[in-house]
Amino acid sequence: MTTETLEFQAEARQLLHLMVHSIYSNKDTFLRELISNASDALDKLRLQALLDKDLQVDTSDLHIDIEIDADQRTLAIRDNGIGMSRDDVVNLVGTIAKSGTAEFLRKLKDTKDAAASKDLIGQFGVGFYSSFMVADKVTLLTRKAGEERATRWESTGEGTYTIEEVDEAPQGTTVTLHLKPADEEDQLFDYTKPWKVRQLIKQHSDFIAWPIRMPVAQPPVTETEGETEGEVTASATETVNSMKALWARPKDEVEKAEYHEFYKHVSHDWTDPLDIIHLRAEGTFEYQALLFIPSHAPLDLFSREAKRGVQLYVKRVFIMDDCEPLVPEYLRFVKGVVDAQDLSLNVSRETLQQDRQVQLMRRRLVKKVLSSVKDLLTSDTDRYDTFWREFGRAVKEGLLSDVDNRDAILEITSVASTHDAEKLTTLRQYVERMKDGQEHVYYVTGESRSVIENSPHMEAFRAKGYEVLLLTDPIDELWVESVPEFDGKRFQSIAKGQVDLDTEEEKKAAEAEREQRKEEFADLLSWMTTTLQDDVKEVRLSSRLTSSPSCVVSDEHDVTPTLEKMYRAMGQ
Ligand code: ADP
Ligand code: MG
Repeated sequence: MTTETLEFQAEARQLLHLMVHSIYSNKDTFLRELISNASDALDKLRLQALLDKDLQVDTSDLHIDIEIDADQRTLAIRDNGIGMSRDDVVNLVGTIAKSGTAEFLRKLKDTKDAAASKDLIGQFGVGFYSSFMVADKVTLLTRKAGEERATRWESTGEGTYTIEEVDEAPQGTTVTLHLKPADEEDQLFDYTKPWKVRQLIKQHSDFIAWPIRMPVAQPPVTETEGETEGEVTASATETVNSMKALWARPKDEVEKAEYHEFYKHVSHDWTDPLDIIHLRAEGTFEYQALLFIPSHAPLDLFSREAKRGVQLYVKRVFIMDDCEPLVPEYLRFVKGVVDAQDLSLNVSRETLQQDRQVQLMRRRLVKKVLSSVKDLLTSDTDRYDTFWREFGRAVKEGLLSDVDNRDAILEITSVASTHDAEKLTTLRQYVERMKDGQEHVYYVTGESRSVIENSPHMEAFRAKGYEVLLLTDPIDELWVESVPEFDGKRFQSIAKGQVDLDTEEEKKAAEAEREQRKEEFADLLSWMTTTLQDDVKEVRLSSRLTSSPSCVVSDEHDVTPTLEKMYRAMGQ
């Protein structure tokens, strides 16, 4: 049987290079990644066996075995899960399909600072490749469920890998790490020490739903007792993890650290989450949900292929990743697990979309996420600020797409305003500061704060002391056009139509003055209107300017200048 040598895809090569010359000090995480892959493979096999009655596999003893050979300095992670075909191995392990990879690598290149690159790696979650932080050679032996032939893959992480067909191998996957030479200085990173590996499993992978087994810990051999006492047969193993599904446990029995580890497992993020939402619904339609808001946005938050991070389980059986019927697109950054008791195991994405129970779950989960953010806003502004900085732009999409929850989204929306040059304001705070007699929420849209702050439209508002919201995200332009009001106050653009800032008395006085001026300037205005007739509809005296000589305004129903620019750019 021939051995082929193949090259890693360019992006994979770059990532591997980073791992081999690891700049990430938290090497321990490799074990979590490999166990998480093994656990996924077991989930997939169980589901497949349930759905495909023709698949001849034994699912009675699904597990993960960890084997250490201290003399050879190897550490093996073995699962009897779904396994991979030769093509699977080439496609899944030789390339990186993750969206956002290119951007991730570009950012990493731009980052000179080692600490910042560490953070980036943590955010990206390098998966299988993290093995090369601790190993100088990795061997993967795998056989896919239902197939005869197995595949052996090997690499030192330096640009190429070898792949060959093998006649015999147990079903599932074994990843063998040939560990780098021991670091005498740093005993802490010796993965040939069973206690170290056990500790890592307890710490990072305790809740994994499958048994993670290791040989029984050697009891100390006592001299006085018989020689067979205290000896262990080679095959005796014990399960290291507790296997308790975290989401099914009562809230007050779960430690924060456990939640955090679980979050890292489902999200592939290496940093702690910003917020945890744990809820259970009882009664006719039972389900449990454990959701997390990350503390930073993923790199692909605004890319088209961005995945949603909520997994669906049915009665503890993993059904699917990235379950979009459960979370609306504008909350695509939320991670976690939903476990429903009464759905069929046979659900597909399409049937889920139509399912009434799923719609009910989704409605409740959305409300819960929004109210949790609202709680942050009132109880922990720092965390709320982080939330809004990282996810605000995505959340604002919901103002357009989720009319039912519009008010709740407006409640947690923050924008820049003339009130404070440094800090954003919530709409609620704006309304609380509104002056007596002010009826509308004034705003202006544009490309940047500095441009719109100095626009002539602003003058009258500044003179009157009215606060104006400064909306500079492209999405702002869209929602502010379609959301009619907040708390009964209309959104009013200061760049559109007639702006009415005065009290009744001021108005009367101004009206009289204007009439008089109109007469004075009648000739000039009609001359200007005629001269400029190709460019503007009308030239009129302004009540809004205080120091600029003139400005261009649009009619009440015209598009704003920025929107006009956007349409033009789109060729309309
Ligand atoms: P991720 O788990 O985020 O997809 P990884 O780099 O960890 O990324 O793994 C890449 C892919 O390789 C997995 O999606 C899976 O399809 C496959 N894979 C890795 N480990 C195993 C395994 N033990 N059994 C079956 N497939 C595996
Ligand atoms: Mg993985």
